[in-house]
Amino acid sequence: MSEPLGIFGGTFDPVHFGHLRLAEESIGHLGLGGVRWIPAGQPPHRGAPQVTAAQRLEMVRRSTAGNARFSVDASEVEAAAPSYTIHTLERLRRELGSTQSLVLLVGADAFAGLASWHRWRDILALAHIAVSHRPGFPVEMASLPDELASEFNARRLSDVAGLKASASGAIVTFAMTQLAISATQIRKLLANDLSARYLLPDAVLDYIQTNSLYRNS
Ligand code: ATP
Repeated sequence: MSEPLGIFGGTFDPVHFGHLRLAEESIGHLGLGGVRWIPAGQPPHRGAPQVTAAQRLEMVRRSTAGNARFSVDASEVEAAAPSYTIHTLERLRRELGSTQSLVLLVGADAFAGLASWHRWRDILALAHIAVSHRPGFPVEMASLPDELASEFNARRLSDVAGLKASASGAIVTFAMTQLAISATQIRKLLANDLSARYLLPDAVLDYIQTNSLYRNS
């Protein structure tokens, strides 16, 4: 059986080192064969991003180029409809078959909101979920809404080897290097004409500057 494939969705407005370390460390911690990055086209859970979907996609492409374990999937950006994770997973299942282990990668803040996602319980029928620690967002039962806490309790695996044993349905947590970086913080710095250097790759910052992005918040 092939190694589990990580699926990493996000707004990436813009992509930063918190995202890149999450994806990179998940490969080693979870035994993944690679990570497929899927920028959201029209994210349903938040206000419209400040830059176009094509620009967010391009920044993800630039930051992941050169890493053979990373691939970038433009399908949500190219779709006219809102980006629901369940639809993306249904498409991936059609593409990759029912036996490929898929691991949806989410930070602890995103996981805490999972019960508000479209058809969230169906997501676990199509993929495992791996929750990374993030500064300020502890992965604790007490901080989860009841319905999510009970799924977490029932499906939690302590040994990540289980991610390879089945195609979907388990929840694991992993501790990544804690980086208190957010896209919100970067947008604020740039809007105030302050430096965001060393929070995100130079290739992304160059693209932002060349295209005069995030000048007005
Ligand atoms: P914003 O500040 O605009 O809300 P963000 O920095 O949280 O953006 P997203 O694109 O919304 O970035 O996040 C994509 C995924 O990456 C989510 O699952 C989120 O939890 C995770 N993530 C983002 N930043 C970090 C970080 N510093 N550490 C761990 N996980 C992160």
